[in-house]
Amino acid sequence: MRLGQFDGRRLGLVVGDLVYDVTDQVGSVEAPDGPLGAHIRSQGASLVAAGPGISIENVRWEAPLPRPAKIIGAPANYYDHTDEMPDSATIVDWGLFLKAPTSVLGPGGVVRLPYTDKRTDYEGELAVVIGRAGKGISRDSALDHVFGYTCLMDITVRSTEDRSTRKSFDTFTPLGPWIVTADEIGDPSTLDLALRLNGDLRQQTSISKMIYGIPDLIAYASSVMTLEPGDIIATGTPAGVGPLAAGDEIVVEIDRIGSLAVTVTADGAIDYAARPGPATALQRG
Ligand code: MN
Repeated sequence: MRLGQFDGRRLGLVVGDLVYDVTDQVGSVEAPDGPLGAHIRSQGASLVAAGPGISIENVRWEAPLPRPAKIIGAPANYYDHTDEMPDSATIVDWGLFLKAPTSVLGPGGVVRLPYTDKRTDYEGELAVVIGRAGKGISRDSALDHVFGYTCLMDITVRSTEDRSTRKSFDTFTPLGPWIVTADEIGDPSTLDLALRLNGDLRQQTSISKMIYGIPDLIAYASSVMTLEPGDIIATGTPAGVGPLAAGDEIVVEIDRIGSLAVTVTADGAIDYAARPGPATALQRG
C-alpha cells in the first residue's frame, strides 16, 4: 500500500494514478500525527479503496506523519560520506541522535535557512517508519517492526553545536510524499536513492552501502529506547552533501517509493552571532 496525507490531513490510499480518501475507515482522530499515525498505531486495520478516486495530479500532499513522536538520526552511516567529513568517525563511534518532531516539513514545502553566514546542507535519506512497538529488538526480527518507508531530508547547519541543535530547526526534516508499506518493498537494502539540487545529480547510492543496515539500526536504537508505532528512523546520507542557497530546489528520489521536492528560502535568516544566547553570556562572563 501507498498511504499519505493530503488536502488538510485526509488519509489517502494511492492506487495507480488515483487517490482514495480512506480517512473515515480510520475514524475521526485529533492526533498530532494525523489519521495515518492513528492507522499505524491501530496495527493492521485494513484499508480498502472505495468511492470515486481523485486524480493524483489534483492532490496536495502533506507530510505523512507531521508530528512523529521520535525522529531518530543515523550520523555518518555511509563510508563515502564519512570520507568527505572532517573526521573519520562513523555511527559506530557517534551512536544515534534525535531531531525535534517540529522540524517536519511536507512535500512542496519551503526550507528556511536560519543563518546568513553559516553553511546549511541538504542530506538525502531513506526513512524507516516503525509499525510495531519494541524494546531490545533482535536483528533477525527487526524488519517485522517496520510499517513502511518514505523519503526524507536531514537538513543540517554546519556549526559546532550538538546535532540535536543543528538539525532541529523548523522545516529541517522534509518527509514524504507518502509511505510505502514494508510488504511492497521487501528487502529495503535493494533500494537506490538519488538527490538532485536544481536538477543536478548530487547524491546517488544503493541503500546496501549503509554501515549499519536497517536491521542493525532498529536493533541498536531499540537497545536504547522503546520504539513505538509512527517513530521514524532517518537512516543516514551518502557522499555528495553540499550547501543550500535561497531559491534552490531539492529533490530526493527513491525507487519504488517516489520523490520528495522542496524549495529553500533565506527570508528571516540572521547572522549567527546574533542568535539568542552568546551576547548575554558574554556580559555575564
Ligand atoms: Mn543525516
